[in-house]
Amino acid sequence: MDPYRLPRHVRPTRYDLRLEPDLLTLTFTGEETVTLEVEEPTAEIVLNAVELTIAEATIENARGDSRRGTPVADEAAERCRITFPSPIAPGTWRLRLAFRGALNDKLRGFYRSSYKDPSGEVRLMAATQFEATDARRAFPCWDEPAFKAVFAVTLVIDPKLTAVSNTSVVGERVEGGRKVVAFADTIKMSTYLVAFVVGELEATDGVLVGRTPVRVWCVPGKRRLAAFGHEIGVASLRFFEDYYGLPYPGDKLDLLAIPDFAAGAMENLGAITFRETALLVDARAASHAELERVADVVAHENAHMWFGDLVTMTWWNGIWLNEAFATFMEILAVDAWKPEWQRWTTFGVSRAAALSVDGLHSTRPIEFHVEAPRDADAMFDVLTYEKGASVLRMLEQHLGAAVFRDGVREYLRRHAYANADTGDLWAALGRAARQPIPEVMDGWIFQPGYPLVSARLDGGQLVLSQQRFTYLPEPLPGSTPAPRDQLWQVPVQVRIAASGRAASERRLLATPETRLAVPERLDAVLVNEGGHGFYRVRYSGELLERLLGALAGLAAIERFNLVNDAWAVTVAGLMTIPDYLELTARFRGERDRNVWSVLLASFATLNRIVEPETRPRLAALVRDRVGPAFAELGWTPRPGEDELTRQLRGDLVRALGVLGDDRPVQTRAAALYAEGAGDVDPNVLPAIISVLAHAGDAARYDDFLKRFKSAATPQEEQRYLYALAAFRQRELLAQTLARAISGEFRTQDAPFVVRSLLMSVYGRKLAWEFVKTHWDTMERQYPKTGLRRLAEGVIGLATPELERDVHAFFQARRPEFGGKTLEQYLEQLRIAVRLRERESAALAKYLARFG
Ligand SMILES: [Zn+2]
Repeated sequence: MDPYRLPRHVRPTRYDLRLEPDLLTLTFTGEETVTLEVEEPTAEIVLNAVELTIAEATIENARGDSRRGTPVADEAAERCRITFPSPIAPGTWRLRLAFRGALNDKLRGFYRSSYKDPSGEVRLMAATQFEATDARRAFPCWDEPAFKAVFAVTLVIDPKLTAVSNTSVVGERVEGGRKVVAFADTIKMSTYLVAFVVGELEATDGVLVGRTPVRVWCVPGKRRLAAFGHEIGVASLRFFEDYYGLPYPGDKLDLLAIPDFAAGAMENLGAITFRETALLVDARAASHAELERVADVVAHENAHMWFGDLVTMTWWNGIWLNEAFATFMEILAVDAWKPEWQRWTTFGVSRAAALSVDGLHSTRPIEFHVEAPRDADAMFDVLTYEKGASVLRMLEQHLGAAVFRDGVREYLRRHAYANADTGDLWAALGRAARQPIPEVMDGWIFQPGYPLVSARLDGGQLVLSQQRFTYLPEPLPGSTPAPRDQLWQVPVQVRIAASGRAASERRLLATPETRLAVPERLDAVLVNEGGHGFYRVRYSGELLERLLGALAGLAAIERFNLVNDAWAVTVAGLMTIPDYLELTARFRGERDRNVWSVLLASFATLNRIVEPETRPRLAALVRDRVGPAFAELGWTPRPGEDELTRQLRGDLVRALGVLGDDRPVQTRAAALYAEGAGDVDPNVLPAIISVLAHAGDAARYDDFLKRFKSAATPQEEQRYLYALAAFRQRELLAQTLARAISGEFRTQDAPFVVRSLLMSVYGRKLAWEFVKTHWDTMERQYPKTGLRRLAEGVIGLATPELERDVHAFFQARRPEFGGKTLEQYLEQLRIAVRLRERESAALAKYLARFG
């Protein structure tokens, strides 16, 4: 028998499910009747269950043929095998099961979450998180995405509490002192999309989109933070009904904020669950980044209601398409909602993150073969979401937006209430575009990495050549090197300016080298016009100089890519550090936030590799590059200023006050904070908090700790929480580390706090010692994904000694993070240490002028 996929000859079509959670005993009992289609005679039925005790199993059909089965659990296989004394004949059967389980604290399956009510008392609620394979922890089921069925849920709860599930309430009565809440039948859907939430919950009024009421739910006292999430919830639902050309497939849409939540959010049909920071926000007090996060996540989950919920991947290898597509749609919807946010430009930052991981030898193709569902755990990463969304955007731009949308519409119509694979989407897009899609896309989906397109002039021609980009010439010992002869079909858009006039040219690069004629009086050449391409560009010295001379004519995303690619080739050793730092000097006049974000990120990387004695000079360089822009912007927004400029101010304050160690900025930040945080621009306040932590002492630490504990919004709580990792004093950072395992921080957040300490040049040594000592405790306390995210912090341990120690530790421990996660972390660490070894002397020499 296949250890990962259940036999196909018994298929569920409907679950009548009754669950009774008890928040006092932290247990639940359940009863379910599963309607089954049996296709061959069988004396046993195998389904998924884990950490459930199945007390009773009986089966009957409409002719009154009824028999009792013997359930035997196989916990390791996460299965239950029910055997019957004689075979069951083909036909329709009803399997009745009684079971019980515990409300766990691991943030998966049916779990408990705690929060403080407005009076400060600790309260409990119950919630679910099933993707990928944890529905089996709440009720026995055929827990694979292709076993779609109808769910009729009944929750039996304390009458003081409220229950929410995927559909509307169709009946509510009190029975034996308990409230019995019955929900309408769902559409035919996968088990991983079922949800129940039980607790003291408050909701906003419903707003109708067509016939669908949309509401936001939260624990008592937080409804005042629901308006913004509600607004994008409504706007994006409307946007998607229009884009997909299909009505929303559910009968209501509830967005629920859960105080303890492992992921960002989960697209349960009609009952989307979120961590609080991804849904609840005070729009007047939040920074742009905090608002954007809510808008993005809400739009993303809503996009899934069709793409994922109505049409679902057949198996877990299809996760990438599910997530990549929702990420692509999220940007499209938020861009339509708030064009002034310029979401496709800011998406450049996400694309850059994907290019960064995909430049490793230890990267992976977007789609890969998935045997066991846990193989797909490693798919929930930047390559799935950000690379996936980037290549979809590249395809959309290549085919044309309307053609792409038509293909998506046809795909959804054709596979509604069923399952589909990547090939089905390409087929639908191919029919809409009247061209074969796999030819273009397979290279991007099934092979790892991406091309570096090199541009040079040769006679009267522009020569474009492609070669896979990697940061390291060789992989780490024991890993497979990236093949050198990979090719992609690269949709390239080139802008050629000559004699003061610019013209665009589109090409599909399919060979190692392509030549384009260029006019005689050439001014400049820009490859990747519009910035949608998922590749890097390396210009010859001559072309780069021409382009830097024509910066004013470049769009923000094009300048962003120019700096981002220059930094990447520098890290790869194809450009020198002094040349790169000279290039950054050309951007003193830059006023775009995204371009600054890549400049500042490169300075932060240099800060991690610079020798301590050279650090003050690096700080002086940061002040030199950032100072002019900040001097012009000042501390307070001007009327009519655009969104990105308001954010830029916060970024520059943080850069100057932390990386630049700028005393006047630190002093001014302290004064503004003392005058009252409420009066500071919401985009500047988080930066001020970071600066004050960086420059702060024990008194400041105690104040921030107090503010973390009494925060009025989830965002405020996060700012102060992470600030506790941003101090410089060893004893203060030691306190923060101790709190990360003492229960003072939520387990959904603690791993991220430790990660940020590993990334801090002041905390990394201490944090690494702490992680090694308390690894077992962390493994026990944190959710499954938490430790993986924590371990990412080792990238910050960028000294040769720490690197050796990291290798020794993981060699001994061999943690299982799924896929190539650990290899990727170690390669990223190697890149940083190699940069240090190669460039330290050159960096110190260049920085000498900043003495
Ligand atoms: Zn998603």
